[in-house]
Amino acid sequence: ALMITDECINCDVCEPECPNEAIFLGPEIYQIDPDRCTECVGHFDEPQCVQVCPVACIPVDPQRMESRETLWQKYQRLTGEA
Ligand code: SF4
Ligand code: SF4
Repeated sequence: ALMITDECINCDVCEPECPNEAIFLGPEIYQIDPDRCTECVGHFDEPQCVQVCPVACIPVDPQRMESRETLWQKYQRLTGEA
């Protein structure tokens, strides 16, 4: 899963781009629900939030390093295909 760092400027552009509805506005900045973020596996070749973020504040969450296979399984779970 990816994560949003405190460099986020709350510009709102990433939230509507997420195919998994994993991004939401938290108490101070936008956040990513790691249980819903597939790093866009299953939907797109590149993480859509990273593509649009103007301040490049969306790295891989070091607490949630996942293989492509794991991300794929998450995608299938989220879409009800598994
Ligand atoms: Fe959503 Fe994709 Fe960003 Fe994860 S990488 S938060 S699935 S847009
Ligand atoms: Fe924050 Fe980047 Fe999302 Fe804008 S695109 S709300 S700066 S994480």
